[in-house]
Amino acid sequence: MKALLAIAVLALLGSCTTVPQKPAAVERMYVIECGENHVKDLSRWTPGENIGKPAVFSDHCYLIKHANQWMLWDTGNPDRLAAMPGGLTNPAGIITAYMNKPLIDSLKEIGLVPGEIQYFAMSHSHGDHSGNANLFAASIIFMQQAEYDAIYGPTPEKYGFPAANFEKLKGAKFVLLNGNHDVFGDGSVIIESTPGHTPGHQSLLVQLPKSGPVLLTGDLVHLKYNWDHDIVPAFNFDVERSHQSITQMKELVARTGAKVWINHDKELHASIPKAPAYVE
Ligand SMILES: [Zn+2]
Repeated sequence: MKALLAIAVLALLGSCTTVPQKPAAVERMYVIECGENHVKDLSRWTPGENIGKPAVFSDHCYLIKHANQWMLWDTGNPDRLAAMPGGLTNPAGIITAYMNKPLIDSLKEIGLVPGEIQYFAMSHSHGDHSGNANLFAASIIFMQQAEYDAIYGPTPEKYGFPAANFEKLKGAKFVLLNGNHDVFGDGSVIIESTPGHTPGHQSLLVQLPKSGPVLLTGDLVHLKYNWDHDIVPAFNFDVERSHQSITQMKELVARTGAKVWINHDKELHASIPKAPAYVE
């Protein structure tokens, strides 16, 4: 009898001392198709390999619902390309950019207009990520100081940044960062500083309530192949720093068990539901 009582007391104690798991504050995330980029020669992104091989890069925007607030990560190709079914080929003739469905229409389908998105950040400022940045001038914008200095500095083109993509953001509420940042203050969405591809490139660690942690890598790597083999393009702003950032993110993935979602890897994204569906 005494033994039984002891067991019962222990069981009770056990249940009392269990700290209730705080539910993840991110409710869901929409993965939005934000264009496609057809490249003539993949070896530009995988130096020494895939010479002369054409490839298709997917392009995504990611919309996060956190309690009753929204955060947008990346803006894809410009919406105006939707009027160009043949796409827009860059002056060097090596990339043709498409936008099948404008971001603004995808947001509308979810029931949102840009002004309702409180928080906005981009992995970096290249045209396939900043195409619609000007729509989010009313949001609080998280950007690394080094990236900000490059887009509004005297020579944004030196970094491959189209200055017109940030014109309407002048005077917006920027939160300038020099490293990592906990967006909602509860650990559910963390901006990870991952410079190299550009001066202030950043990645995003999102804690999804059911799927667990997911790392959105921006262009830290372009394809899963680059991640697996630690290969970066020679045109990166800082190749050495790019490799260091990859190493740091691999350590983070080992520590957290995060899934790695590489924006431009079409195959990798094939199994992920796209907006208006969402992931939890
Ligand atoms: Zn890109």
